[in-house]
Amino acid sequence: MSLAESHLRTVRAVHAGTDDLSALQARKLLDTLAVAAHSRLHAESLRDWRDDRTLAEARALPADVVLTKLLSRVPLLDRGELRARSRDAFTRQVTSFLHYYESSGTTGDPVAAPKAVDDLVVNTMNIGEMWGRILDPSDSALILINGPFAPAGYQFEKVLEYLGVLSMRLWADNVTGDYTRVLRLAADLQANVYVGTASRLLELVHFAVRNGAPPPRFDRLLLMAEQTGESLLRHLEQLTGATAYVASYGSSETGTTAVTCERGRLHLQLQSYLLELHDERGTRLVDGGPDSGELVVTTLDLPARPLVRYRTGDLVQTTGEPCPCGLALPVMRTLGRRQDVVTFGGVNVRQEDFEAELWSGAGGGPIVLDYMLVVRGHEVVCLMTTDQPPSDSWVAATTGRLGSSFAGRRFGIGVVNALPPLATMGSYVGWKLSRMLDLDDARAWSGLPAPIEAALRETLQQVEASTGLRPAHPGGTLTEPERITDES
Ligand SMILES: [Zn+2]
Repeated sequence: MSLAESHLRTVRAVHAGTDDLSALQARKLLDTLAVAAHSRLHAESLRDWRDDRTLAEARALPADVVLTKLLSRVPLLDRGELRARSRDAFTRQVTSFLHYYESSGTTGDPVAAPKAVDDLVVNTMNIGEMWGRILDPSDSALILINGPFAPAGYQFEKVLEYLGVLSMRLWADNVTGDYTRVLRLAADLQANVYVGTASRLLELVHFAVRNGAPPPRFDRLLLMAEQTGESLLRHLEQLTGATAYVASYGSSETGTTAVTCERGRLHLQLQSYLLELHDERGTRLVDGGPDSGELVVTTLDLPARPLVRYRTGDLVQTTGEPCPCGLALPVMRTLGRRQDVVTFGGVNVRQEDFEAELWSGAGGGPIVLDYMLVVRGHEVVCLMTTDQPPSDSWVAATTGRLGSSFAGRRFGIGVVNALPPLATMGSYVGWKLSRMLDLDDARAWSGLPAPIEAALRETLQQVEASTGLRPAHPGGTLTEPERITDES
């Protein structure tokens, strides 16, 4: 039986809950330990697993013993360590991979994440068997994911091929540098599915509005890579006429660990990943019950560059509730990156609460397309773009309504033609830095790689020009001695 045939059988059985998932995971875990033990990255932590007798004895043990006792003896793998030594995770020559990719590398050195053919087959089928519940060959999809370096655009293109869906993987025109051609092709080919980030879609809509073109309409939005809350999803649905899904969750280095169903819930792909949750109380296996913590990933279907007990830095929650779609795989929610879940400037503002107010539609008038909050001392300014020029009375009313969240601060609104460049970089820099710029906290921006540092500098200039606000430590913000290079 080919890998594709056997994996399809596995996926369907796991979806239906008819197979013994623990037995499958235990068997795959031991295969993973056996192969990972021969990588340089895991050579020390998995030394014992290079011994055939150890493996043979482990294979005779009950699945739950393998998954709890044996796994818990393996040390956790830190993000910093993988970043420093990502090629050491390879178990094959680099030329035996199919395509070379790296992670976006915004919090340090990019992590090598090439695709091997077996990895590609499994990941494509995992996503495809889920998205196939939402898409069919009559659909036409626009993939708007830049990045020849990272695998996401390529991977989603393969999924659409798997499903027989026409796709176009486009980007800003290389002659004009804008979205005119993207909008023309999306209209010509009747693209009814958008695949990409929320912030990029907002930029596309904004470009259309600013240039007097009809904003693109879609039936379904398959969003990923950013912390996209309920209010933002509803806002995007209103702008585009579509149903919006947080369509997948994962990373270049791990592959796709959760995928949406037709009910808009992310189901963990337990046939290909052994997942644990980690916090101050310890590390425990995801068992489908209600729980939360930092996601720790062991790859079960990535033999060319296996990761064992890899700390992702992402906070997630398992709901413990069965999904009405009927799939047996547990449902999870993302809670953002660890560094995203913080207050800023001493103000406690949740993205979700602020966006709920921003896009409540209360008061009528222009629609706010996108926003960025800027904080400096007691000043909070919300830069925003709108679909039509607002009246003074609308600005006054909206300032009053939004400002109530910032008690004790001076709150203002700045309606601008375009947001600073950082606002579109949520998938690279994380939600907090792309939507909330705290000018008092230089540490939040430190350690950014050069291209994003350039975007940050331009952002600071634009913010100062439109609000008069400057960083607390002008000039020296990025080279201060207390600069932090690794926040994980
Ligand atoms: Zn579901």
